[in-house]
Amino acid sequence: MAKSWNAESLAMPSVARLSPYQPGRLSEAGMIMLASNENPRGPSPAALEAAKQAATTLHRYPDGGASALRALLAEQLSVSEDQLTFGNGSNDVLDLLACVFLGPGRSAVFSEHAFAVYPIATQSAGGNAKVVAAKEYGHDLSAMAAASEDRAVSLMFVANPNNPTGHWLAAEDIEALLESVPSRVIVVVDEAYFEYAENQAAYGSALPLLARYPNLVVTRSFSKFHGLAALRLGYAVSHPQVANLLNRVRHPFNVNAIAQAAGVASLQDVGYLQACVAENADQRERLATRLAALGYVTMPSAANFLCVHMGDAAAANDWLLSQRIAVRPVANYGLPEWLRITIGTPEENEALLLALEHWQ
Ligand SMILES: *Cc1c(COP(=O)(O)O)cnc(C)c1O
Repeated sequence: MAKSWNAESLAMPSVARLSPYQPGRLSEAGMIMLASNENPRGPSPAALEAAKQAATTLHRYPDGGASALRALLAEQLSVSEDQLTFGNGSNDVLDLLACVFLGPGRSAVFSEHAFAVYPIATQSAGGNAKVVAAKEYGHDLSAMAAASEDRAVSLMFVANPNNPTGHWLAAEDIEALLESVPSRVIVVVDEAYFEYAENQAAYGSALPLLARYPNLVVTRSFSKFHGLAALRLGYAVSHPQVANLLNRVRHPFNVNAIAQAAGVASLQDVGYLQACVAENADQRERLATRLAALGYVTMPSAANFLCVHMGDAAAANDWLLSQRIAVRPVANYGLPEWLRITIGTPEENEALLLALEHWQ
């Protein structure tokens, strides 16, 4: 092979500039896993049972239209079925949006310290990332609206609540954003954690705004609250015309049969999910209070994690790993002094606090 041959030089420049997504530590026996914002209680038992049932027909292609899941979710969300697009995780939906609305010469606006998948989705579609400086670690919505006046901008990602900071926005803030952003810009509000935020004062889902803003897309996930991260299931709610476009680039069987079956059962197990959300809210408050008592500053969070100021976060991460606790360093999010810690079960949170009491 010629020595001078270099694949990177052949790649789309926007792809060559990317770094791969850095996942949280893989789950391992005996390790307390607070690294990837998963539901520490796992999925609903009914979802597990449905997954087992679905595994009896693995030789059959899945329902490419996810019709049972679509009908149930449309009913629960009070939207029409043609407003829903399902993805192999909500990351898949973000990719579909980038594929439809971005390309060379077009840009996506998103915030500093926002979810690491936005630059990947943007640049892999050949688009340009227009990163807007954060305001006190949160989204600066007026600066984001101003950035979208550039005619090259066709897409905007807003995470609410945001990962990794936990910051959240009120419905009025999103409405004001949609009022000031030109309607040629598709505004994606990523609500991967909305279930955890609903009990938070001043949090508002963008879903009720869909009827008035055709350029709004709301994305959601089954990976966090529903405890189904391994199955990869997410969705977008949008104007039917947007859903129609997403459906043109969607791989026909992008959502597997086990995910569809487990998703339906999980959505129906409302009691289980309510208990998970209540425990998270309770533990989030307790953990923040106890961390403050230990002298740690935490960012306010409406999600199932806390961003905690550690100073030497890399050393703190090593210490926690030595104590068999995995959390998430967020230096790659521009937060080198912070760790993102998922809210675990009460026992897991106690173990974390105990480990931190013995740190420095
Ligand atoms: C975890 C997460 C997602 C969900 O990704 P999936 O592909 O559904 O697992 C989306 N957005 C944000 C901000 C997240 O933190």
